[in-house]
Amino acid sequence: MAETIFAKIIRREIPARIEHEDDECLAFHDVAPQAPTHILIIPKKPISSLADVTDADTPLLGHLIRVATEIATSLHLEEGYRLVVNCGDHGGQTVNHLHIHLLGGRPLSWPPG
Ligand code: 5GP
Repeated sequence: MAETIFAKIIRREIPARIEHEDDECLAFHDVAPQAPTHILIIPKKPISSLADVTDADTPLLGHLIRVATEIATSLHLEEGYRLVVNCGDHGGQTVNHLHIHLLGGRPLSWPPG
C-alpha cells in the first residue's frame, strides 16, 4: 500500500496529540475535529481500508475497538459516543490507512450525510 500521512505520525515524523500507544496501534486526536472529542485509532500494520482486512486481522480489529472504548471511558464520554470507519470513496475515506474515528462530547445526528 502507498505510504500515508498516518505512517509518518506512527514514526513521529509529523506531530500529533497522542492519546494511546501500544505494540499494535496508535490513537491520536484528529487535526480537524468534528466533535469536542475526535480521536483516530489506527493499526501500526499498514492496512489500507476495511476492504483489505483478512481473517488474520480479526484480533487486531477487536483490539482497535477495545482501545477506542477504553479511551472513551478515560475521557468520560459517559453520555455516549460513536465509532466510525469510512471505507472507500463512497464511504468518505480520505486517508488510505485503516482508522476508527471516535467521536463524542456532543449529540451526534443520524443518518450521516
Ligand atoms: P477519513 O476521511 O479517511 O475517514 O478520515 C481521515 C481523517 O484524518 C480526517 O478526519 C482528517 O481530519 C484526519 N487527518 C488528516 N490528516 C491528518 C494529520 O496530519 N493529522 C491528524 N491528526 N489528523 C489528520
